[in-house]
Amino acid sequence: MEQTAKSDCTHATAPEGVFSNDESWRYRRHLTLPEFGPEAQQKLKRGRVLLIGAGGLGSPVSIYLAAAGVGTIGLVDFDTVDLSNLQRQILYTTQDIGRPKVQAARDHLQALNPHVDVQVHETNLGRKNVAAILQGYDVVVDGTDNIPTRYLLNDACVQLGIPNVHGSVFRFEGRVTVFGMPQGPCYRCLYPDPPPPELTPDCTEEGVLGVLPGLIGLMQANETIKLLTGIGRPLVGRLLMCDAWSLTFRELQLARNPECAVCGKT
Ligand SMILES: [Zn+2]
Repeated sequence: MEQTAKSDCTHATAPEGVFSNDESWRYRRHLTLPEFGPEAQQKLKRGRVLLIGAGGLGSPVSIYLAAAGVGTIGLVDFDTVDLSNLQRQILYTTQDIGRPKVQAARDHLQALNPHVDVQVHETNLGRKNVAAILQGYDVVVDGTDNIPTRYLLNDACVQLGIPNVHGSVFRFEGRVTVFGMPQGPCYRCLYPDPPPPELTPDCTEEGVLGVLPGLIGLMQANETIKLLTGIGRPLVGRLLMCDAWSLTFRELQLARNPECAVCGKT
């Protein structure tokens, strides 16, 4: 029965020569979605997405992007898997403890979808390597947990013209938006300068609800898919704030700052 249904669907949706039988069946729910279809699926297949951080946010983002059929997924992380990660970093299992995250992540993502090319960058993102690593990617997903890297990433994305899908989590609160689009603001439009380190919240100290990076990360994956395919209305110029405690959402309108030191003069 399964085989019969499979053949019917493949004939109904697969554009000749674009997708293998495996892909046509794998992405069937996309291919049959009228607003998506083979054209958007092909854009995903050609898409290149770089995830900064393979942790709480990077886990759900990478899993869903791999499942959806994004052709190339780059992962930047220099950390190893720790027991305390497993409460929220669903890319990893207990057996991965001690392994470099990017290697364990690559194994997981390629097992999920062998059509995805997973590029690993087992390094710390810094001023010297950021442009070389970002070059050639269509979308960057910010899943970092530290403020200096957010600024570094924002500035590089604006300079290179790459959209930056921003996500952050703290205790019960999460935020998501898209920076670096021509019609929208960048991170520095909101926060021109980094706060002093003593005022920077730290998830290690303050904690975070384990499902929260899942909620925020899935919205980052959603925005990434929309940016790659051109479907839907992206979260540009809008900051979505989620309070998991009461499960309420608020949306703030964000304007580009014409005086912004990074994107103001472009
Ligand atoms: Zn700006």
